[in-house]
Amino acid sequence: MSYFDSTLLTQFEGLETPFYYYNLDLLQETLSAAKAAADKRNFHVHYALKANFNPRVLEMVQAQGFGADCVSGNEVSKAIEVGFPASQITFAGVGKSDKEIRTALKHEIFAFNVESIQEMEIIDELAGEIGIRANVSLRINPNVDAKTHQYITTGLDENKFGLPNSELERAASVLRNCKNVDLVGLHFHIGSQITDMNVFKSLCVKVNEWKNWFEERGTQIRVLNVGGGLGVDYYGPDANPIADFETYFDIFDRFLERTPNQEVHFELGRALVAQCGSLISKVLYIKSGVKKNFLILDAGMTELMRPMLYQAYHKIEKVGASAEAEKANYDVVGPICESTDAFGKEVALPVSKRGDLIAIRTAGAYAEVMASSYNLRDEIRYFYAHQGQHDLVAP
Ligand SMILES: *Cc1c(COP(=O)(O)O)cnc(C)c1O
Repeated sequence: MSYFDSTLLTQFEGLETPFYYYNLDLLQETLSAAKAAADKRNFHVHYALKANFNPRVLEMVQAQGFGADCVSGNEVSKAIEVGFPASQITFAGVGKSDKEIRTALKHEIFAFNVESIQEMEIIDELAGEIGIRANVSLRINPNVDAKTHQYITTGLDENKFGLPNSELERAASVLRNCKNVDLVGLHFHIGSQITDMNVFKSLCVKVNEWKNWFEERGTQIRVLNVGGGLGVDYYGPDANPIADFETYFDIFDRFLERTPNQEVHFELGRALVAQCGSLISKVLYIKSGVKKNFLILDAGMTELMRPMLYQAYHKIEKVGASAEAEKANYDVVGPICESTDAFGKEVALPVSKRGDLIAIRTAGAYAEVMASSYNLRDEIRYFYAHQGQHDLVAP
């Protein structure tokens, strides 16, 4: 049985489409489950803001007591603005501008995740100018294959992220000469939408190795930040609405070697927010091509870009359809003037007509945040469902 049944069809009647639908009850359940599983093991979780910074989503994540993981100066400012404590904010990214570094320095965030030796020297210099000390974690590229889509793999030697192993000796020596920088930890983030739990075991092995490497050289490591990447079930949003946080954290608990006062930090994005969001769109036209039937929606890559950017799969459903409805195969496409503007090819859907509503599921992460105004499209709307209350927010 789909979540988007005839009850929701009634609720959506007369609403202007497209819009993001956020199930805030599911979000709350997910956040509580993650928080409980982390707290039990004394783990710290930073929420990766880039996954979704919709106002109410962000408010709920903050209220749950997570820290924030930012990848731009504006995200740092946003995190502060919505109430994340500066002492729980990390800042990663291969290309931090001077302006962004100054912003983060002024807020005295918890730590910069430093991705190159040159960046470390610049942070040292800018911190010196302002007259404060900066905490840094070294982002190490551990050369672990995340076994996810190549476009969202970040921890291999050929990826641009983090310090390659060959540079660590030099990084450690440069660090000793930096007068305004303190090393607090090691940072790793190997990719996203990781569903093979063995990948996280391999990561633990690498983290242990590098931690020992530093400790053997007399450098104490307070924080082991293992990044994010926990995947969700794009094929079964109703069967598996909440990621398996217990199993995930348990792997790190069992396989990471820690001294008693060493902290373990995580940066979860997708697993916290992906399943609470869906994109609701209306069928504009049905076009029967030479070889294909096209279902043309009023939403496209300007509202949800993941299928076009990463060849990502999203489950597509007709809102309020009965399970027995007769099916047909459609290429589900958007209105944007690009051939890649398709959500799915040869999708079996209940026979549809102009005006029917379509739900594109698992669109809470890396979705609304990537909306663009290409083709001068309208700004995106969103609809919140929370404890029997609904709210459509239009721009
Ligand atoms: C994007 C990102 C994350 C979050 O990744 P998810 O796969 O969404 O959990 C964590 N850390 C860093 C450094 C990132 O860039």
